[in-house]
Amino acid sequence: ARFPAPTFLTSAWQPRQFPPDEGTEVAFAGRSNAGKSSALNVIAGRRDLARTSKTPGRTQLINFFGLEDGRRRLADLPGYGYAKVPEQMRRHWQELLTRYVEARSSLVGLVIVMDVRRPMTDFDCRMIEWARAHSLSVHLLITKADKLSRGAGLSVLKDVRAQVGETASAQLFSAVNRIGVDEARHAVLAMLAG
Ligand code: GDP
Repeated sequence: ARFPAPTFLTSAWQPRQFPPDEGTEVAFAGRSNAGKSSALNVIAGRRDLARTSKTPGRTQLINFFGLEDGRRRLADLPGYGYAKVPEQMRRHWQELLTRYVEARSSLVGLVIVMDVRRPMTDFDCRMIEWARAHSLSVHLLITKADKLSRGAGLSVLKDVRAQVGETASAQLFSAVNRIGVDEARHAVLAMLAG
């Protein structure tokens, strides 16, 4: 499937820097180093949209991207759970995220990116619960599927699905082997359609 061309809008570290709260928005979240930036780039079909970083946890900003028509957006949330982030930054991150999710009317869904070898961390589970509490759709992108055999990957997917039940959809993905790209694009566009 073709994905509407995204363009960078702005980076925000406080709510007044967010783009106008209209249309629909889907946010990408995930543990640092899970593969969120790589996934976002592959889904958006842009090699360098989100910067893949060698220093996990460094980006503490929310990056916003607009999709063609100006009515739909993607938001790239700062990676969570990086141990070396100073306490003060962690608190700022939490506050920014709370304010973002609670204030953002256009936010309709969350894509939570997780490493197939470390699925459903405590942070992931908290994000899922939190998203559900705010009536957001949740799609779990289990990435780096190329790191496991097909059978082992499918077994992780089955376990994750059993764990989340009806509260989230889930799929296998790989930015390297391009596993599940169409499925991910469909999921994101379906959420953006409201
Ligand atoms: P982020 O911190 O969540 O944005 O993660 P990145 O996208 O920067 O990726 C973290 C590391 O995992 C990098 O070294 C990537 O090259 C690697 N990576 C990302 N996606 C995949 C994938 O699908 N398969 C494999 N094997 N490695 C990946």
